[in-house]
Amino acid sequence: MSLTDISARIDAHAQAHGRDPAGITLIAVSKVQPPERVQAVLEQGHRIYGENRVQEALGRWPDFQAQFDGIDLHLIGPLQTNKARQAVEFFSTIHTLDRPKLAKRLADLAQERGSCPDLFVQLNTGEEPQKAGCLPSDADAFIAEAQAMDLPIKGLMCIPPVEEEPSLHFALLSKIAARNGLQGLSMGMSSDFETAISQGATHIRVGSAIFGEREYG
Ligand SMILES: *Cc1c(COP(=O)(O)O)cnc(C)c1O
Repeated sequence: MSLTDISARIDAHAQAHGRDPAGITLIAVSKVQPPERVQAVLEQGHRIYGENRVQEALGRWPDFQAQFDGIDLHLIGPLQTNKARQAVEFFSTIHTLDRPKLAKRLADLAQERGSCPDLFVQLNTGEEPQKAGCLPSDADAFIAEAQAMDLPIKGLMCIPPVEEEPSLHFALLSKIAARNGLQGLSMGMSSDFETAISQGATHIRVGSAIFGEREYG
């Protein structure tokens, strides 16, 4: 598949569900992908990318930023508080706010810098012990706590458990966002972005379907 195919599928699926495709942001997840694949997608004109490690992103994106204007980077992986400063300087959007200590650190940095990236609260909708994210039962209180720190919370993000039907998780995310007055829904990956679009995703994070399979090691 390619960027063109994915864009066409997004448009078709949005229209089938009565949605404006312009309301869906495609984040091309470039983590681990070799630079020549990223370069090719940049040359096709795409500018919004997702990385899941601060260090990896800092190592590779400055070169691309020197060559291409308007690159917009989103952090979609776990953020340690000791990397928060680098993250807020580098990313327009952080999708993985999930705990009070990180919220406090981001609020302090926002105060100091006079600005803050857009934030999504990550929910561990599958309540998986190994996975990051705030538990659904703690979500309302945590969102309120972060908002009380004046953090710009744009919406919620989830990564459904691999072996479960994603639509149940997308529905839960959407319900919790709605009752907290949040518009943004960061959900849907290569295998389930169409389902996510039909359930209201505003940000889809698609990696392997655009770039090809990731090769680790
Ligand atoms: C890797 C990753 C993706 C993209 O996964 P694909 O299946 O390659 O589309 C999306 N979201 C997060 C949080 C990821 O870590």
